[in-house]
Amino acid sequence: MTEQVTRATFDEVMFPNYAPAAIIPVRGEGSRLWDQEGKEYIDFAGGIAVTALGHSHPVLVDTMREQAGKLWHLSNVMTNEPALRLAQKLTQKTFADRVFFANSGAEANEAAFKLARRYAFDHFGPEKNEIISFYQSFHGRTLFTVSVGGQAKYKEGFEPTPGGIKHCAYNDIEALKALISDKTCAVVMEPIQGEGGIIPADKVFAKAVRELCDEHKALLVFDEVQSGVGRTGTLYAYEQTGVTPDILTTAKALGNGFPVGAMIATEEVAKSLAFGTHGSTYGGNPMAAAIAEAVIDIVDTPEVLEGVNKRHQLFVDALTAINEKYDVFKDIRGMGLLVGAEVKDELAGHAKDFLANAAQEGLLVLVAGPNVIRFTPSLIVPEADIKEGFERFERAVAKTAADLKK
Ligand SMILES: *Cc1c(COP(=O)(O)O)cnc(C)c1O
Repeated sequence: MTEQVTRATFDEVMFPNYAPAAIIPVRGEGSRLWDQEGKEYIDFAGGIAVTALGHSHPVLVDTMREQAGKLWHLSNVMTNEPALRLAQKLTQKTFADRVFFANSGAEANEAAFKLARRYAFDHFGPEKNEIISFYQSFHGRTLFTVSVGGQAKYKEGFEPTPGGIKHCAYNDIEALKALISDKTCAVVMEPIQGEGGIIPADKVFAKAVRELCDEHKALLVFDEVQSGVGRTGTLYAYEQTGVTPDILTTAKALGNGFPVGAMIATEEVAKSLAFGTHGSTYGGNPMAAAIAEAVIDIVDTPEVLEGVNKRHQLFVDALTAINEKYDVFKDIRGMGLLVGAEVKDELAGHAKDFLANAAQEGLLVLVAGPNVIRFTPSLIVPEADIKEGFERFERAVAKTAADLKK
């Protein structure tokens, strides 16, 4: 007998590290979700920038079923066809020559940070071990990744954390110049900060980071866990920054909800992850790789990528129109379908109120910090769903504005 589970069950049996919404979705199709009560939602969240091809995409469902009937797991004592095919595609479509598979963004970053240290160790010795990253950045929740991440709250109470890490103001060339040295082994950045508030890197800044890295023989690591796989309108965002990293990490949308992550790098750098230096039991398993291969095949087409840029404009236009009526946002920004609306100063701290009211109206959105409402819908969200989603969002904004401006 299976027992009935409800939101209350969460409070009885789950660790309290999350505070999930009151609803429990049970089914999804495209950009719509339905909860236990049968209430329908339009999904402008996509998990958190994960379900880039929506829910239950028929090609992905077929791919998964087919692979499930063939082979689930082998271990890395053997290789497998889907992993090799996916790696071939990732190297053909990017700057990279080599791929390491993981199961999440944090694990891909963990591998990248270890590789950066190891590369410097191999070529310059143990003194060159400093990693520089940026304030507000987010790189995952393992001990190393929270330490590299630029949000102190995620480290609190977990000390001692790994050392040799410095933080710098984002988009501030002078600050980076002051911090970088010949002891720096890597600079780690998101080409557009996601969790930190949807903040794109200036092109001049990105270029300066690359030059400073070259000058000090430090590696440039791009964390594209959120910005990758078509999210910004190109397969990876680095294509738009005018700067090529040495190492790039990708996860989230790569599996459209099936756990998979990857670190990709140039041949020269990859050599330092020599036999026996690193590993993962599940990394590169055939299920994840087969699904990710299908995701890449669908996303990396002009149809989908151009569609992202077109939808970007629809999102910006809809948000601008709502703002003209209700005067609640001070900035609407982002790239592709990674869009943020920052609330005006007098509404500071209240982004989550918009989220709660949107859910009431049948629309799922996210926040990025206390002041930014974040939109990361499916890259192929139908225009009709965008239109209806923003009708719902407008009602949520009207209610939030009325409540807060009282
Ligand atoms: C989500 C995210 C991560 C962490 O990924 P997990 O799969 O949760 O470990 C790392 N970096 C960035 C930029 C992210 O957005």
